[in-house]
Amino acid sequence: MSSPVQNPKRAPKPNWVSTRNPCKACAPLGATLVMRGIAGAVPFLHGSQGCATYMRRYIISHFREPMDIATSGFSEATTIFGGGANLHQGLENVTSQYHPSLIGIATTCLTETIGEDVHGLLHEFREKTKGDEKPLLVHVSTPSYSGTHIDGFHDAVRSVVEQLAEPGTSPSAYLDSFVNVFPGLVSSEDLRFLKEVAADFALPITLFPDYSETLDGPSMEKYKKIPEGGTTISALRATPSAKASIEFGRTLKTKRTAAAFLQEKFEVPAKRIGLPIGVRESDVFFAAMEKLTGHQTPEKYRQERGRLVDAYVDGHKYLFGKRAIVFGDEDLVIGLTSFLAETGVVPVLCASGGKSGALARSIAEVTTHVRGTVAVRDGVDFMTIAEELALKELKPDFVIGSSKAAKLARELGVPLIRVGFPIHDRIGGQRILHLGYRGAQQLFDLVVNTLLEVKQDSNLIGYSYL
Ligand code: SF4
Repeated sequence: MSSPVQNPKRAPKPNWVSTRNPCKACAPLGATLVMRGIAGAVPFLHGSQGCATYMRRYIISHFREPMDIATSGFSEATTIFGGGANLHQGLENVTSQYHPSLIGIATTCLTETIGEDVHGLLHEFREKTKGDEKPLLVHVSTPSYSGTHIDGFHDAVRSVVEQLAEPGTSPSAYLDSFVNVFPGLVSSEDLRFLKEVAADFALPITLFPDYSETLDGPSMEKYKKIPEGGTTISALRATPSAKASIEFGRTLKTKRTAAAFLQEKFEVPAKRIGLPIGVRESDVFFAAMEKLTGHQTPEKYRQERGRLVDAYVDGHKYLFGKRAIVFGDEDLVIGLTSFLAETGVVPVLCASGGKSGALARSIAEVTTHVRGTVAVRDGVDFMTIAEELALKELKPDFVIGSSKAAKLARELGVPLIRVGFPIHDRIGGQRILHLGYRGAQQLFDLVVNTLLEVKQDSNLIGYSYL
């Protein structure tokens, strides 16, 4: 009789490997951020309490703001018999405690794995509570094993628009005069910047999601369970009346975006551009704004562009030929790579935990003028990035991305420039401006000064002029 224990030498090699220190977060986390960007809404996770706790902690430590996420609190019994009763009870509790205008329900791995019919359960709940004054319920399916927080984010944006959009709800004076803007996961400061640009172009916009205040608001005299701000439900209902939609992201999956849905169903023209980071991608954004409004870019932004180009010239001697590892969400990586490449930095490795299939092509499009090889890896974790580095001897001068690479940068002995999401070990992540010429200016100064600091600190002279 043969032994059940296989000779390790002869055991077949698995064709998979576990994720080790992921370079992404989970899908419902992205969805909860979107729900936090709706006025009067409460995010709700149908699943285990631990998932909600993890996401709250993750989001709070970046934004430094309260982040309530309700949950149906699955137990062993609900996992076996279904969580319908918990969901209904949870919705009742949230309604009576928060009085929200909307509850945004996302699913977790567990509810997706047991095949919970959330759509049917919500239908039952609506029937059961017919006649009562109840908040709107929207639902997004976010199995984390088939996507990242970015997928969950975009799926939630689309689901909300799909479930709320109503043609003809916009006042006729307003009809066709506004534009839907779907920016993707950017910072609160980026959202404020987009609203400022739109106001300067005299263009009314529906910005969705808008957590510029709900996740970065002023200090409150009295605690409010649901913070002020967010995209209003009436604006979301009116999205089919827009004259166009503009969305950021070169790696978006065509059929899974809100702009694509509005174009297919209501013939709202959709314009897709990359995240406007750096001169090249910001030029595309401002050109799109000019086309949409028929107005020239205001002088203020022309000045910002001019100052940025001047700074590129001033700082070129410090940056030219420096080697960077860029990592994070795919569209952020593309925007940062485009920006770094135009400053003379060589992005030696561009890596993301996302796996849209469009990363390599998009990086190639924004690095046509780079001298040297740009390695691109998608669907990777930090351990893989570290292995790649050891293998290829990429010798980076700095790493740029979220605080998740702090350990990697420390092991490499190079600085980590913190941008994007999440930033858990510094304050102000939500106030970093990445977009537009102004955002590139701030990033540029940060990169140059970080490298100057390294130079200053790593020699005995400690230059005072550099
Ligand atoms: S179980 Fe799934 S949904 Fe819950 S925290 Fe983990 S990855 Fe996210």
